[in-house]
Amino acid sequence: MRRDFSNAGIGTKALWAGEDGQGVQGATQVPIVQSIAFGYEDLDEWLGVALGRKPGHIYSRNTNPTVSALEEKVRIMEGAEAAAAFSSGMAAISNTIFSLVRPGERIVTVKDTYGGTNQLFREFLPQINVKVELCETSDGDQIEREISKGCRLVYLETPTNPTLKVIDIGRMARAAHRVGATVVTDNTFATPVNQRPIELGSDIVVHSASKFLGGHADALGGIVCGPRELVRRVYHYREITGAALDPFAAYLLLRGLKTLQIRVERQNASAMRIAKYLEKHPAVERVYYPGLRSHPQHAVARRQMKGGFGGVMSFALKGDFEAVKAFLPKLKFAHRAANLGAVETTVGSPATTSHVEVSARDRALMGIPEALVRYSAGIEDVNDLLADLEQALAALPRAGTRKP
Ligand code: PLP
Repeated sequence: MRRDFSNAGIGTKALWAGEDGQGVQGATQVPIVQSIAFGYEDLDEWLGVALGRKPGHIYSRNTNPTVSALEEKVRIMEGAEAAAAFSSGMAAISNTIFSLVRPGERIVTVKDTYGGTNQLFREFLPQINVKVELCETSDGDQIEREISKGCRLVYLETPTNPTLKVIDIGRMARAAHRVGATVVTDNTFATPVNQRPIELGSDIVVHSASKFLGGHADALGGIVCGPRELVRRVYHYREITGAALDPFAAYLLLRGLKTLQIRVERQNASAMRIAKYLEKHPAVERVYYPGLRSHPQHAVARRQMKGGFGGVMSFALKGDFEAVKAFLPKLKFAHRAANLGAVETTVGSPATTSHVEVSARDRALMGIPEALVRYSAGIEDVNDLLADLEQALAALPRAGTRKP
């Protein structure tokens, strides 16, 4: 049976897309095909598959049935023509950029991209003579101005990590297409449940599947979705860099994806309640969450994040890094780790996690306070999370207390 997803909702796609014809003897789940190579008795058939004229697999660095099922699922969820999976989010991002941009060309992006992406822009792309324009993330006029000067690629990430700035994808895509540029959007924080960049005008979507897509903090992965011709180039580059996804990781991501909608809806709701609570707390200097009316790009977020505002927020404690050091160990229901998007609530300080590779000076220039805490709401009972935050904040020196 081949299911038709043209009118299906995102939760139905998350469950069923990519699964047709993959089961073995009627098995409910896509099998883990943990095999490097696929053999053929008939040389004509082998040649046909190798030349891409017949369906099938040859070698798992190129394609693998479990990985193909994952690619198909996310492709349908993002509404793209094609998808390619990678060994991590950074593999997806770097392979996309290196395969689509040539020396001498120009990229327009923003200062607030994820730390690893930022390193790519600041360190590795200039080495091959790619000019990267790092715009102020909240200054839509500046981004549009830089795009209009001409560029090969516009790279967006929204909401951003870790200060949850929101970029108007539709506006930047229109500007990019006027100069013939390709738009790539990192949709890791929003997920296709909350935001679908291709519907908004982005050409390509990239994900760290290690975060919400997998959702269980047990598998690294990355996905690129977009037009057939562009993804073909990215995929071909992957064959050569060898940044393929392992079948077992693909299986874990497929399994996690089935519950994406219910996880993300719960995380959206919990994060909203927590952000509102923190915003009124005397020990908190500022809360960064696109769902809050006080967020500078709240109107844009409402327009483009149709499903919700996501499970991640950041908040700056009053004080400096010492406040973070005092606060984090007090939390009882939070994993202190460099991760987000998992079913377990995860907290960290960007100075020690996502932006540890960025100097303190550059963090300050990027508007990342040293007392910033990144909080990724899990699926625990939200009342337990609120009570936990309350007791941890109350224990901070000179902080006031209040009821959640
Ligand atoms: N993009 C964003 C927004 C991220 O937060 C991360 C990692 O935290 C990445 C990309 C990189 O993903 P990975 O760790 O899977 O390489």
